[in-house]
Amino acid sequence: MANISEAELLAKVPTGLYINGKWEAGSTGKTIPVSDPATGAVLANIADASPEDGIRALDAAVAVKDAWAATPPRVRGELLRKAFERVQELKDEFALLMTLEMGKPLAEAMGEVMYGSEFLRWFSEEAVRITGRYGINPEGSGRAIVSYLPVGPCYLVTPWNFPLAMATRKIGPAIAAGCTVVIKPATLTPLTTLYFVKILEEVGVPAGVVNVVTSSSASALSSPIIADPRLRKLSFTGSTSVGIALMKQAADNVLRTSMELGGNAPFVVFEDADLDKAVEGAMAAKFRNIGQACTGANRFIVHSSVAEAFTAKVTEKVKAMKIGRGTEDGVTIGPLIDDRAVAKCDELVTEAVSRGAVVTTGGKVLDGAGSFYEPTVVTNVQPGSDILTDEIFGPVLSIITFTDEDEAIRLANDTEYGLASYVFTKDLARGQRLIERLEAGMMGLNVGVMSNASAPFGGIKMSGLGREGGFEGIHEYLSTKYTMTPNPFA
Ligand code: NAD
Repeated sequence: MANISEAELLAKVPTGLYINGKWEAGSTGKTIPVSDPATGAVLANIADASPEDGIRALDAAVAVKDAWAATPPRVRGELLRKAFERVQELKDEFALLMTLEMGKPLAEAMGEVMYGSEFLRWFSEEAVRITGRYGINPEGSGRAIVSYLPVGPCYLVTPWNFPLAMATRKIGPAIAAGCTVVIKPATLTPLTTLYFVKILEEVGVPAGVVNVVTSSSASALSSPIIADPRLRKLSFTGSTSVGIALMKQAADNVLRTSMELGGNAPFVVFEDADLDKAVEGAMAAKFRNIGQACTGANRFIVHSSVAEAFTAKVTEKVKAMKIGRGTEDGVTIGPLIDDRAVAKCDELVTEAVSRGAVVTTGGKVLDGAGSFYEPTVVTNVQPGSDILTDEIFGPVLSIITFTDEDEAIRLANDTEYGLASYVFTKDLARGQRLIERLEAGMMGLNVGVMSNASAPFGGIKMSGLGREGGFEGIHEYLSTKYTMTPNPFA
């Protein structure tokens, strides 16, 4: 538990724009309220940037891009390492701040501090491992040098659901690669990013390398930045619809893009699975982050011979969950981010039930302050129900059944998305077949949580382009330069 009161913590968090190493109110003088989704109370008022403020932030990133690219990789890495250590020292504060603005239970927020800060450590290590290659061409007449150079100024746009990890997963590799950035966090949960950037300032990241802007109009702020020819990279995490719109804008400027978009993860339980492990995995894959994770299991595809037992076991676990403000002891399900998210869960469950689905627990909007929806299990979900095609993004576990492996694969792949997938089976060969046949960028084989800083996170199909984390992550911020030289013996 944080050794600091909520008010004391909020007083430490900057609320302005951070441009060229200075915190400022921005040119509009206007502010945007940030609320606690568990109570509706306003936590802070943050600066509302104008499009001109956004361009000033890009100016700052452009002004120092060459100096930053020329900064030794070890120096860049050490700054990230210091930031990692500082976030660890302040882990209780970061966890509390995320719980306050986003709603996740404190224990989960602490999990995100660990996961999110790990990108800083990982990329502090990767900064000094940007290698190239040297080779003789097939004719023997030349020598080729392949090197990797910073891609240039980057615009980073992040969603509200993982306020720390989404920022570190982009800022970490960008800094390591030698790129300067402008980051725009979601206005629903900007405080964690603002506090994190304060840490970057404190550990000595030079002015202009990282700039932060927040705005009540994401498109008015972003469009001129994306259209500016000095920008060279757009990294976006958020919904597929916004990602598509930004890719179209980025095309006009031929920007490098990384797109981490929506998902509709299948969770397949075979008849030979260890059912208790599958249930444990299901609880993590579904209810982590109150169901608001892009990797969240959206469709439970369960073999008909174990469906009844699986449903009974998850229903029992879900009934035992405790709903409340994430700061309260023992709470395992916090509020959804806003009332729109609650209404969406309610509509999806109501529509599924109208087609014959059965609610075994939950299924209700909670009255009173805050945006709460009961953790819910729906079984007997019928083909064609919206709950199978839409990203639920809430604590609703929906179950359909299958009878053979081909049918399971067909159902699992029956989505435009391709981010995460989960498979529970004791049969190794079957697990391997599914690795090859499931259309998803990531798979949890007998595990319910897969995110790790050392792994390439990302999707295929409508779930996006590019990878964050792993060895791949830094290459999103590097461009390949090939140089031909003559045969030195000729
Ligand atoms: P969103 O698309 O509404 O917003 C994401 C970000 O884009 C926010 O910062 C928002 O202000 C900004 N934005 C919105 N409209 C914009 C516009 N027209 N121009 C420029 N910027 C704009 O998504 P969200 O509701 O914040 O997040 C939930 C979505 O994010 C879900 O679909 C989820 O699956 C996805 N997500 C994906 C990953 C991943 O790694 N693939 C991770 C987390 C969340």
